[in-house]
Amino acid sequence: MANANVRVRFCPSPTGNPHVGLVRTALFNWAYARHTGGTFVFRIEDTDAARDSEESYEQLLDSMRWLGFDWDEGPAAFDSTSGADSGPHAPYRQSQRMDIYKDVARKLLDGGHAYYCYCSTAELDARREAARAAGKPSGYDGHCRALTDEQIAVYRTEDREPIVRFRMPDEPITFTDLVRGELTFTPENVPDYGIVRANGAPLYTLVNPVDDALMEITHVLRGEDLLSSTPRQIALYKALIELGIAKSVPAFGHLPYVMGEGNKKLSKRDPQSSLNLYRERGFLPEGLLNYLSLLGWSLSADQDVFSIDEMVAAFDIKDVVPNPARFDLKKCEAINADHIRRLDLKAFIEACGPWLKAPHAPWAPEDFDQARWEAIAPHAQTRLTVLSDITQNVDFLFLDEPVEDEASWTKAMKEGSDALLRTARAKLESADWTSPESLKAAVLAAGEEHGLKLGKAQAPVRVAVTGRTVGLPLFESLEVLGKDKTLTRIDAALAKLTA
Ligand code: GLU
Ligand code: ZN
Repeated sequence: MANANVRVRFCPSPTGNPHVGLVRTALFNWAYARHTGGTFVFRIEDTDAARDSEESYEQLLDSMRWLGFDWDEGPAAFDSTSGADSGPHAPYRQSQRMDIYKDVARKLLDGGHAYYCYCSTAELDARREAARAAGKPSGYDGHCRALTDEQIAVYRTEDREPIVRFRMPDEPITFTDLVRGELTFTPENVPDYGIVRANGAPLYTLVNPVDDALMEITHVLRGEDLLSSTPRQIALYKALIELGIAKSVPAFGHLPYVMGEGNKKLSKRDPQSSLNLYRERGFLPEGLLNYLSLLGWSLSADQDVFSIDEMVAAFDIKDVVPNPARFDLKKCEAINADHIRRLDLKAFIEACGPWLKAPHAPWAPEDFDQARWEAIAPHAQTRLTVLSDITQNVDFLFLDEPVEDEASWTKAMKEGSDALLRTARAKLESADWTSPESLKAAVLAAGEEHGLKLGKAQAPVRVAVTGRTVGLPLFESLEVLGKDKTLTRIDAALAKLTA
């Protein structure tokens, strides 16, 4: 449904390389913005100076660009590398917005929505233990909610450094989650919470909803792990509305957990969760995004493979399901393979480009031959799962000699392989090298002379020429490699066999 008023945001913390769960969150926000004709805001939540780094920030931007998530507002413009922020709510990096948060905290204090809490960690711990022992709720007990001026004066003389706490309302908070339906949180489960540290640093609990309010976010779509912070944020929103800082409370939708191996939550530390890994293996962004979209959503019951445009056309947050989604690497690869098949040949040839160069390619740059590559490319396109596999599929064309793969050699070279190779060589020599059919007929005939079916007869030829038992279709490979090199390699194999 078109709704140009929709404003969604993706607001990661730049701590290390993005993981696939985060990419799924970005995807659903971006797709929802594009589906509705709304605005996609990209914000950097870098208030944790100890964990955030400039390098991670750059990586994030680079990842967003690679994925194609063009943002309408954010730090820097999507399509430029010059640093200036784009959008009316700049800056979009929280580390540059500290004065804004301090000002809001001040207003919350002045309005009675927040208060100073002087409790020391030791005191808090002791009371929490006692509450637990008595079987009572163990969250903050509201000790400093209504201190008298005398008490405050005493605390001040004790040099206590207070934090700022938000005062939660005493009634339950109910909201309708866009994914999960109506949810209610009772006050004992949502105690007053810290929003500013003793050293004056505003916390995530404050800055995240304040920015959502100031940036007029209408839909907060984020992972289920953040669900417990939602009632607090709704209460804070209401205070911000009273103070004239927020216009309305956004709608919330919590996306299902992504599970990894053994039905455990996929964690940032799982190697298979790192976005970079997928880039390095040569996933296509559209293949990876197609798969990630299936973690909690589907286009239809019988269509798993679709383009990003098809997804955008169909995507609605109300169709996301709440139950955890399992990350299935095999399926992710299969979908990527389908997207490789869908490329037009020219795009496929281009997409493989990086894997045909250093540092991926083991051949010297001057030995690469574009015409040969383009001749073999159609046969590779129907076989790759990930683009990085192209390197070893075509190395026989550009290396002086085929790779030495002992396992392949032992598997293919049997008793009698030398005789077979000699016959095959003779027949290939007189074959018509402009047709793979003729090359196939030559090897077939050689096999017949030695009582071997085509499969058995072609194995030694393949290993002699490419070094490996598996690879692209053999006769097309021979044709592209050419007669001279093919025969030379068969001779070299024969020499090795009879040495
Ligand atoms: N910076 C938060 C995170 O990375 C964002 C949470 C949210 O989407 O509200 O978890
Ligand atoms: Zn206190």
